[in-house]
Amino acid sequence: SVVMERILKRKSLRIRNQQQDWQESSEGQKMQEFRRSLPAYKEREALLNAISQNQVVVVSGETGCGKTTQLPQYILESEIEAARGAFCSIICTQPRRISAMSVSERVAAERGEKLGESVGYKVRLEGMKGRDTRLLFCTTGILLRRLLVDRNLKGVTHVIVDEIHERGMNEDFLLIVLKDLLPRRPELRLILMSATLNAELFSSYFGGAPTIHIPGFTYPVRTHFLENILEMTGYRLTPYNQIDDYGQEKVWKMQKQALRKRKSQIASAVEDALEVANFDAYSPRTQDSLSCWNPDSIGFNLIEHALCHIVKKERPGAVLVFMTGWDDINSLKDQLQAHPILGDPSRVLLLACHGSMASSEQRLIFDKPEDGVRKIVLATNMAETSITINDVVFVVDCGKAKETSYDALNNTPCLLPSWISKASARQRRGRAGRVQPGECYHLYPKCVYDAFSDYQLPELLRTPLQSLCLQIKSLQLGSISEFLARALQPPEPLSVQNAIEYLKTIGALDENENLTVLGRNLSMLPVEPKLGKMLIYGSIFNCLNPIMTVVAGLSVRDPFLMPFDKKDLAESAKALFSGRTFSDHLALVQAYEGWKEAERQQSGYEYCWRNFLSAQTLKAIDSLRRQFFYLLKDAGLVENNTEACNKWSHDEHLIRAVICAGLFPGICSVVNKEKSISLKTMEDGQVLLYSNSVNAREPKIPYPWLVFNEKVKVNSVFLRDSTAVSDSMLLLFGGHISRGGIDGHLKMLGGYLEFFMKPDLADTYLSLKKELEEQIQQ
Ligand code: ADP
Ligand code: MG
Repeated sequence: SVVMERILKRKSLRIRNQQQDWQESSEGQKMQEFRRSLPAYKEREALLNAISQNQVVVVSGETGCGKTTQLPQYILESEIEAARGAFCSIICTQPRRISAMSVSERVAAERGEKLGESVGYKVRLEGMKGRDTRLLFCTTGILLRRLLVDRNLKGVTHVIVDEIHERGMNEDFLLIVLKDLLPRRPELRLILMSATLNAELFSSYFGGAPTIHIPGFTYPVRTHFLENILEMTGYRLTPYNQIDDYGQEKVWKMQKQALRKRKSQIASAVEDALEVANFDAYSPRTQDSLSCWNPDSIGFNLIEHALCHIVKKERPGAVLVFMTGWDDINSLKDQLQAHPILGDPSRVLLLACHGSMASSEQRLIFDKPEDGVRKIVLATNMAETSITINDVVFVVDCGKAKETSYDALNNTPCLLPSWISKASARQRRGRAGRVQPGECYHLYPKCVYDAFSDYQLPELLRTPLQSLCLQIKSLQLGSISEFLARALQPPEPLSVQNAIEYLKTIGALDENENLTVLGRNLSMLPVEPKLGKMLIYGSIFNCLNPIMTVVAGLSVRDPFLMPFDKKDLAESAKALFSGRTFSDHLALVQAYEGWKEAERQQSGYEYCWRNFLSAQTLKAIDSLRRQFFYLLKDAGLVENNTEACNKWSHDEHLIRAVICAGLFPGICSVVNKEKSISLKTMEDGQVLLYSNSVNAREPKIPYPWLVFNEKVKVNSVFLRDSTAVSDSMLLLFGGHISRGGIDGHLKMLGGYLEFFMKPDLADTYLSLKKELEEQIQQ
């Protein structure tokens, strides 16, 4: 190790010389000059001092002041200057893949290097990191995974956790782990960075760690709300009932033409009307009922009008549009590209900014466009704080946000777009005032803004904890409840208990809260446990394609549209897909496969119009399916041979059974009465079906059970999508065969069977099991 020490010393000197050479080159000097102009530079010495004297430091400062790109570099540079360059190892976590990638590229460029030299990145399934990489940007998930095999972060000298103000679940989780680690690694340094001023909370969590604020400067931003945008842009909303005179057929035909032409009057009348409906429902409280019939409702036409107004009437400057996710972004981009002005490349440079874009496109976002061309960037809420586009003067804010499907894969998926908080709206607005006074167009009325909550609740407090509990177990962090009680803002003990109970019921944890084999496999799949279980069963039973469709549908949202006035027609369209399957999930499988076929024949859009389907949602489902396949392959659960994993994909009953495996204990009993069907769950007693469900239209359901994904309590309890299952499916696939063996399983199911007064099923079960065993022995 003395030899090692000497080698590293020599290396450190070499690194120092290299850095000096670059700093003296003319390009290097220009870069230095830019970097010194950032607000963070003034605090450089104070930051480095604080870090050397304290184990934990909290840093706050406005977005764009230089936290992410500069602070890790200051640390690296000071180590290099002290001829310790080869000894340090700095890890900086980012909540999103794309920021880890783009930030590392930027920092490497600022250092006159290629990515993978002293600066690298690592995200799931991808990375660029060399032997001499000293500063690594990675997603929070990657660091958590590393902790799985390297509990003490051996060799790491600095951990920087960025964007902690977002209060993502992974970040809150990581902080608990790091807090436990600090006493074991006294020389390790932890730096927390936040874009807002709530540093106190974090500081006190770490026993009064010092906080340093980087003062910034922004220009004033003029704010417009919907009322005044409508007036300013001369945009007229047509009330919904005024377009109802056209016959159903006629509207469709015209919409079809309009899709080709885009400028047809009727198309805008219909789409305007959608926006009116959206407008009427503009109250956070009615949001749910709105999403029932038109979950995609963000006023695309309204955005188009606002953008058109800016391009035609306003002074030069880039425009940043906040959308909810990458599927919206793509659809809006398609629509704008067909517009005579916004789609004209000599006037507008239209760019998307989301996790799945190519890195060449990523770079364009930061470049200045040619003179006379206006840059319009469509982005998700990650442009609120983690990415800074310098020349933005106009911000257009749709007021909603949701986790993108990619983020949904990292966390528990969040299914629907929801209203943002006042803090988010403020951040979005602030993006317009970076280089000169700016303007912000909020596409919702002022009264809606007033109803926004001040801050978003930390993710840990608003999402189900099942995935997190699995992760705690797979990281061997001890008792789940004790661990979570140490969080910054601990979740309710009851919701922790619910999550643990649930994991036991589905067989991911055993009675003593230890991971089972199933649990271990589930913890490797970054999806909700029930969806993971469905995927695993789908691959074990070789019916992967339909199961991936069902799971993708459950993670994105329902592609079946139910417009209020065409409800009957829409329902019959859906019923045709379900046939005699008594299953919303199988209806989705049929609809999706029909759409794929129509896409191959270039008639995907027509197919969607005819069948009341959302093309946008189907596309999102399609791409998520592809990701599932890679995930399963990555986890070693399927091989490359797609034919083998689909050997039984046409066996409707097997698919039904696998759906049952995933959705249990979401189950209700079916009793067919003279004129109606009576449904009961163990927890709620009598329940009802959402009218969107195909089973709601059935006079009789020839199965004894329904499994469902979600129930919603309004005045009664309503079940959303459901699939009918038989006794034997429930017995063999519901719950799990625990270590207590078949008897334990029966005991668990026993509660259900007794409750539903079907104790005789136990006998059926035993004989089924005997039969199976005999078959296996043969
Ligand atoms: P913070 O983390 O405090 O929000 P950053 O370190 O991300 O700030 O950015 C600091 C500044 O660096 C930005 O204001 C911007 O001027 C510049 N910058 C960041 N990324 C890039 C990039 N990819 N290309 C050009 N300039 C960039
Ligand atoms: Mg940052």
